[in-house]
Amino acid sequence: MFVYSGDVFPSDTRNASAEKDTECDTPRIRGSSNLVRSTSIPSLKLFSDGARLKPAQTPVTPRHSKPIKRFVSEANLHKPATTPDCYTNVHLETPRIKLEPDDEVISLREETSNLTVGVRVRPLNAKETAGSGVTSVVAVDGSEVKVMCDSGVEHSFTYDHCFWSCDPQHPQFGSQEVVFTTMMQPLIDKAFQGYNTSLFAYGQTGSGKSYSMMGPDVGQEVGIIPRFCQELFDRIASLDDSTVSCSRSVSESACVEVSYFEIYNEKIHDLLAEASDGGKRPPLKVREHPQLGPYVVDLSVHSVSSYKDIQSWLTIGNSQRATAATGMNEKSSRSHSIFSVVLTQTQEEMLNDEQHKLSRRSRVNLVDLAGSERLSQTCASGKRLREGVSINRSLLTLGKVIAALANNSNSKRKVFVPYRDSVLTWLLRESLGGNSRTAMLATISPANIHIDETLATLRYACQARTIVNRVRVNEDPHERLIRELRAEVERLRLVHDDHEKQEEVGSLHKRLIASNKLVAELTEELQKAKHEMQETEENLVSSKLNYEQQVKQLQDSLEQQRAALEEMQRYKSQLEIHEANQLCKQLNINIELQQNQHEGVMVHDLEKRRVLHWKTSTFFQWLQQLRDYTP
Ligand code: ADP
Ligand code: MG
Repeated sequence: MFVYSGDVFPSDTRNASAEKDTECDTPRIRGSSNLVRSTSIPSLKLFSDGARLKPAQTPVTPRHSKPIKRFVSEANLHKPATTPDCYTNVHLETPRIKLEPDDEVISLREETSNLTVGVRVRPLNAKETAGSGVTSVVAVDGSEVKVMCDSGVEHSFTYDHCFWSCDPQHPQFGSQEVVFTTMMQPLIDKAFQGYNTSLFAYGQTGSGKSYSMMGPDVGQEVGIIPRFCQELFDRIASLDDSTVSCSRSVSESACVEVSYFEIYNEKIHDLLAEASDGGKRPPLKVREHPQLGPYVVDLSVHSVSSYKDIQSWLTIGNSQRATAATGMNEKSSRSHSIFSVVLTQTQEEMLNDEQHKLSRRSRVNLVDLAGSERLSQTCASGKRLREGVSINRSLLTLGKVIAALANNSNSKRKVFVPYRDSVLTWLLRESLGGNSRTAMLATISPANIHIDETLATLRYACQARTIVNRVRVNEDPHERLIRELRAEVERLRLVHDDHEKQEEVGSLHKRLIASNKLVAELTEELQKAKHEMQETEENLVSSKLNYEQQVKQLQDSLEQQRAALEEMQRYKSQLEIHEANQLCKQLNINIELQQNQHEGVMVHDLEKRRVLHWKTSTFFQWLQQLRDYTP
């Protein structure tokens, strides 16, 4: 097995020296036999839900048919241009507006960011499938891409992400959505944090760069750029007003500006500008601003407010791109296209009735490079050949720049980075080796007939993976200072609130302890009281029992006493009757005696007897009453 270690230049550079002169006209605009330039705008469709969009209304140009703003034009530049036009290669030292890689001290504001590389293998096309002896020699295994040469040597390369787009059933099948999610979503996240981001599609002609970046105009298969635009506006829509505290409210808004240009034969063409005289647009120039770095003079920049707006501009730009049929691709892009979005996020903060504005600006560059050409394979001649040479020159320089940046990232011995050797590298200097989080999507064909190009692309991508950029959030230093101070104030306020809360919690804690103590005491007392109550209850129960017993005893004794009394009464009455009878007998005896002794004194005796009778009957009455008496 052969594992690539890294310092081989792309093989497609072999024709770069074939052409020394550079053309200044725009040959692509007028009819070459197989040059395709579309003037009508195809119908648009939304990809998110697969629903078709209505065809663009006529006129087809977006709402802002005129650019609302020029990025930096000569008129508003304070300083005169210091660099020559784009189509003259300038071999000057690149001015350094960022930290040199050999500086040991990295600014506190800067972070390092490795270039992320993904490799996508497209399916065999109809021509390859039909060709005899064409086989697939590429395999993907996790983060490894393996290429099996005819000689039996296996080359193995490791990347951040690998996408196998040949077979939907494959576990690592890389659909358009998967590629977008993996490669672009992290960059979008960073863009919303205020970082510059870039994504390059690099690969052989016909390997799927444009398919991955732009995709078909319609349906679920749309590429990274339209998906990015949709995601951009979805996220912007979700930015809303929020109130952090009663004294502080924050509202966020975002503004999006787009530009779209291509570098064709080392000349820059604005794809969104209106043609002035009969469809021929003059090529634009590149200048270098002391602070902003390289820029395209008079490039149109358009403000967009919705996905539909941006899609219209994309359609216009795509229709202006220079494409041509080559031996390898029916509709080969003959230029490098750069779709650039500037996202400005403004945060308005109301703090104690004072308004503060903070803004962050991030540039997102989406670059669809022209195919790395092997002139023998593309069967190019004449104009196509010249285009191919130009394309190769840019890619040769890109290769040199990547090699130099990779060297500088990995070794102490720094080498010169030849950004200015091509317009492409000069313009994308920041994306390649500066303040940008960058990703590269390398596209390859699995066919054995393209094995050399495939290996060249894979080595190129391997080298790019070692580049380390230094990135920072793009915001005004004063605004940043204010933001940081405000954040510090907010932090201190929170600490203070926390402290107060802690104090409050402390006092509450003390009170809680006291309450707990009280509760414990009361509980103890309650237990005591309960205990006492229980005892009292028990006493009561026993007292009740005693009382009942006593009552019963009393009742019994009363009953006995009553019986005794009755007995006594009975006895008494018998005794009284007996006494009365005795008395009567005695009386009768006396009466008879008196009758015998005093026969003559009848009247007097009669009277006495009457009295005695009265006394006797009274006595019997009393006796009867006494008998009837019941106590
Ligand atoms: P490049 O831009 O690299 O020259 P293109 O993107 O134009 O190549 O792709 C060439 C052809 O291959 C197109 O017809 C495209 O539809 C097809 N193609 C490329 N990649 C894929 C893929 N992943 N799945 C299906 N078809 C693809
Ligand atoms: Mg293309």
